[in-house]
Amino acid sequence: MPDVLLLGFCWDASSSHARGAALAPRVILAQLRNQASNPFSYSGIRYDKAIAEEHIFDLGEEGEACRRRIEESVSDVLTRGGVPLSLGGDHSITLPILRALKKKHGAMNVLHIDAHPDLHDEFNGDRYSHACPFARALEEGCIDRLVQVGVRSITPEQSETAQRYGVIMLGADSLDDAPDDLLAGPLYLTIDLDGFDPAFAPGVSHPEPGGLSTREALGLIGRITGPLIGADIVELNPERDPSLLTAGLAARLVKELAAKMSTQS
Ligand code: MN
Ligand code: MN
Repeated sequence: MPDVLLLGFCWDASSSHARGAALAPRVILAQLRNQASNPFSYSGIRYDKAIAEEHIFDLGEEGEACRRRIEESVSDVLTRGGVPLSLGGDHSITLPILRALKKKHGAMNVLHIDAHPDLHDEFNGDRYSHACPFARALEEGCIDRLVQVGVRSITPEQSETAQRYGVIMLGADSLDDAPDDLLAGPLYLTIDLDGFDPAFAPGVSHPEPGGLSTREALGLIGRITGPLIGADIVELNPERDPSLLTAGLAARLVKELAAKMSTQS
């Protein structure tokens, strides 16, 4: 059974609209330890037994250096035989994570929950914006099959890119019909919290009505047969989350994913 290592990447300088996501890792960890909530996953595994180590990285302001540090820290986890569970930060952190995983596993299948496809070629002049990580990851050959769930805010340019790479998009209303083989591993799971409906996750920088419910997302995660070779939870903006509703959801996702990843063979 692999060790799950929790990595918190405090980075939001690639956000296109509002900053704040760099605050998220510490807020999610505080929620994880919040005595008001049960430390066990639904399957009965304590998060602090499932997670072998926690590391928080304060990443400064320089994108290239930040991406290098993220890639190195994930590579270090993999070298030690661990499985990385990462907390953003904005969604730009996923590219260097996938780069590190590609070196070990080759091109991988990615399951991506998000209101947005994040397939812009560039955004506001930045090719490493949080609106671009999957365009870069597809170009660089990190991804074999990309399945996107909950996308409801897309541009014609991104639709073209999705078609060119054969990206599979599932609406929140078609999850139950998704074939099981789309959820088979080895799989990397990336969860942008704006993929949830704002009723469940209001604390994000780009809320879009019409998203997944907590139960729908947990049901989808439950159907993943694995193995999960890594996962991330990104785009919590604590400055938009005074109720801590979204932070609490992120902490629940950490518990469920850590339990799943720590018990897979
Ligand atoms: Mn998004
Ligand atoms: Mn995103």
